[in-house]
Amino acid sequence: MRALRVAVVGSGPAGVFCAETLTEDPGFEVDVDVFERLPTPFGLVRYGVAPDHQKIKSIIASLSEVFETPKVRFLGNITVGTDITVDELRSHYDAVVIAYGAPLDRRLGVPGEQLPGVIAARNFVSWYSGHPDASFDPAALTGERAAVIGVGNVALDVARMLVRTPDELRRTDVPEHVVEALDGHPVREVCVIGRRGPEHAKFTHKELLELAGVEGADIVVDPEDLRPTEERRAAVAARPATARLLSTLEKIAARPPAHRSRTVRFLFDRTPVGFLGEASLTGVSLAHTSDPSRVEVLPTELVLPAVGYRSAPLAGVPFDEASGTVPHTDSRVIAGGTAVPGLYVVGWAKRGPSGVIGTNRLCASETAAAVLADAAEREGGTGRGPDAVDDLLRSRGAVVVDWKGWLAIEATEAALGSPNGRGRVKLHDRTGLLTAAGLSV
Ligand code: NAP
Repeated sequence: MRALRVAVVGSGPAGVFCAETLTEDPGFEVDVDVFERLPTPFGLVRYGVAPDHQKIKSIIASLSEVFETPKVRFLGNITVGTDITVDELRSHYDAVVIAYGAPLDRRLGVPGEQLPGVIAARNFVSWYSGHPDASFDPAALTGERAAVIGVGNVALDVARMLVRTPDELRRTDVPEHVVEALDGHPVREVCVIGRRGPEHAKFTHKELLELAGVEGADIVVDPEDLRPTEERRAAVAARPATARLLSTLEKIAARPPAHRSRTVRFLFDRTPVGFLGEASLTGVSLAHTSDPSRVEVLPTELVLPAVGYRSAPLAGVPFDEASGTVPHTDSRVIAGGTAVPGLYVVGWAKRGPSGVIGTNRLCASETAAAVLADAAEREGGTGRGPDAVDDLLRSRGAVVVDWKGWLAIEATEAALGSPNGRGRVKLHDRTGLLTAAGLSV
């Protein structure tokens, strides 16, 4: 059977599903090295899926099985582009699959966006997820009101985490310093702002129901925002999911207030047109979408735009600035209209930042099929084994966290959680992670 060596750049679900599909192919003996810039695997499953969604995180068990076979290696703490270039990967492997997702934020392009106090939701998400590179300073949780721009699932995650009680948070894996900061913050009202009507909300019904059930906050929807316009009626008639969402929003709007200590308030049909303040944020101007001359000011010291992500350019990989993705045809990366030999893409870097974890399964099988079809057409391979890459990384002083190292990190996190009956408490700094992996730093 012909041997094939593949490098996957990124260990989120798309990359791991791709590695799994490749190694299951009966026609080739495929070995996969999965490169990851963090000491930990699984990308957004670990650092994006909200901590109170432990059921979704249970996918980690099946992703882990992929690394339990000798055919797939984890090379954590290795930054492709710094420790090893894409061109070097291409000369060491028969195929390279780009799977690094969408690590940047979409910008609003609104005056004042650079003010401190306007902080991309991702920074907040990274912080409460214990990401070692998180830059969010909990001192930003200030003032009586925070605003979240966007009505997708990330916006709901962020709003929910801002109002969770410490008891709820301690049922998750968030580090203790996060529990304490989220317990003590002064924000009483979180406004979630959609630029279109509720019939265009991107959040899912399940996430809305979950928000409606939080212990620490009243959820407020203005019945005026749900008025049955012609557009709304048509959307409800066309899509059962929209009908369900609007029906639940109506029920929430009709609930009497429970006078909880915090409130999440939905505001629809409003677009941010300016962030106010000199040295720091004092408010956001919102124009009514149906009548842009109607502008209201929402006083706030913290705005978290949750308006989507973008992929990032990397030397050696073509990038389409307009779509914020890696250009491809049938998963083959293209430059100047032709496929770059041996370079492929999967996941959010390929499709843009949409879909749930499972969406990556089909995406990964398409990419794996392209890799295998091209390999079947080609004679021979690079002829280089794993030692060549290992030697190169060693010569550069790179410190690799391998699968055993990750298992040691997991064991440390489990030990941190067990005295308080918590499944795991995350380590959140790089030094702590590397030390737990048994590496000297
Ligand atoms: P998203 O679903 O695309 O939502 C982005 C939101 O931002 C939309 O409401 C969008 O409004 C709004 N927006 C975009 N540009 C804007 C602008 N210039 N001004 C005002 N609003 C703007 O993205 P996401 O929430 O980042 O989620 C990314 C993906 O991850 C989604 O597929 C999501 O379902 C998934 N995810 C899933 C879960 C879960 O399953 N629990 C949790 C988190 C994320 P328009 O519709 O008007 O463009």
